[in-house]
Amino acid sequence: MIPYGRQEILQSDIDAVVQALRSDLITTGSLVDEFERRISEYVQCPTFTVNSGTAALHAAYYGLGLIPGDEVITPPNTFVATQATAIMLGAKIVFADIDPETGLIDVDCVEKLITNRTKAIVLVDYAGQPCDVGLFRKLIGKRKIKIVQDAAHSLGSLIHGKPIGSQADVTTFSFFATKNITTGEGGAVSTNDPDIFRKAKEFARQGIVRDPNRFQNPAPGPWYQEVHNFGLNYRLTDFQSALGISQLNKISEFKEKRKSIHQLYNQILGQRTDIKLISKNEESDPMWHLYPIFVENRDIVLTNLRNQGVMAQTNYIPAYFHPAFYQLGYMKGICPRSEDFYNREISLPIYVGLTQSEVEEICNKLFLALKNTN
Ligand SMILES: *Cc1c(COP(=O)(O)O)cnc(C)c1O
Repeated sequence: MIPYGRQEILQSDIDAVVQALRSDLITTGSLVDEFERRISEYVQCPTFTVNSGTAALHAAYYGLGLIPGDEVITPPNTFVATQATAIMLGAKIVFADIDPETGLIDVDCVEKLITNRTKAIVLVDYAGQPCDVGLFRKLIGKRKIKIVQDAAHSLGSLIHGKPIGSQADVTTFSFFATKNITTGEGGAVSTNDPDIFRKAKEFARQGIVRDPNRFQNPAPGPWYQEVHNFGLNYRLTDFQSALGISQLNKISEFKEKRKSIHQLYNQILGQRTDIKLISKNEESDPMWHLYPIFVENRDIVLTNLRNQGVMAQTNYIPAYFHPAFYQLGYMKGICPRSEDFYNREISLPIYVGLTQSEVEEICNKLFLALKNTN
């Protein structure tokens, strides 16, 4: 069986985690700070860690001050956490359709949906290809709308030569097992806005305030702390941070490997008239997280592939297809391009440990799967 994604764990990762487990603090220790410093440096933006990409989104939205009645524009072709966490803060999701060539949220579709209640536009870096934040900044102009970048797929990607993390008002990452680097479960929030940073981080640290300058009551001693707003425990542990640091050390090699798998697939599949590939923006240098292809009779082809042991996926079921959304009154048909995209899309396996002969095997099985659709 070949999975669609898989972690790359080497002896150096194992050693780092074992060492972390032997130290005095296995959580709230110095490795958390070190990992945060390292990612901040890598993405060139102040960053704190959390224990999932979902938590990162929740904290980011909280940090923006999302409240009931606010509207948040998102594409439908993303993991449902992009929307769920905003809805849990009382926001209303407005779905904007995508560019069918790249799978990225379309700026013209967004423009038509902006109202005076729009609080944020969420850009999802589908498959690892980063959205062009500048286009959306231009669209927003002087309006007080924030840009959130769900970069769960795109840690390591560049746009206009710059890393993902510092361009949107707030950017979120995931370190789930199949993502570009992993801590098992984990995530991070990056922002250059000190106010968003403080609010979001405090929310992810149970709302605890330790800065004496901010205390509202006199402090009876150094043990004293206050809670001004309620928060959740979204902390990443030290042993996960150790894994994160060790993984981040290898991210350039990981990127090269993903790039070469992407190129190999392009070479083998590019000439086929029955397979369409995803388009790349001129300005982007993606760390490819997914390898999407588009075919007719997707359900049959995907089933055939899986029956041959290639555990390909499809990304994503449009969010509003989920029953949780039609309970809120959303109907099918809102974003026809996203629906068509989903109806044709297959994500072929791509991960650091995938070999050239496995890629060739996957392609041969794909050709067979395509042939057997009648
Ligand atoms: C993985 C993912 C998330 C959620 O991250 P978790 O770490 O699994 O909670 C959010 N958005 C997108 C686009 C993702 O791919």
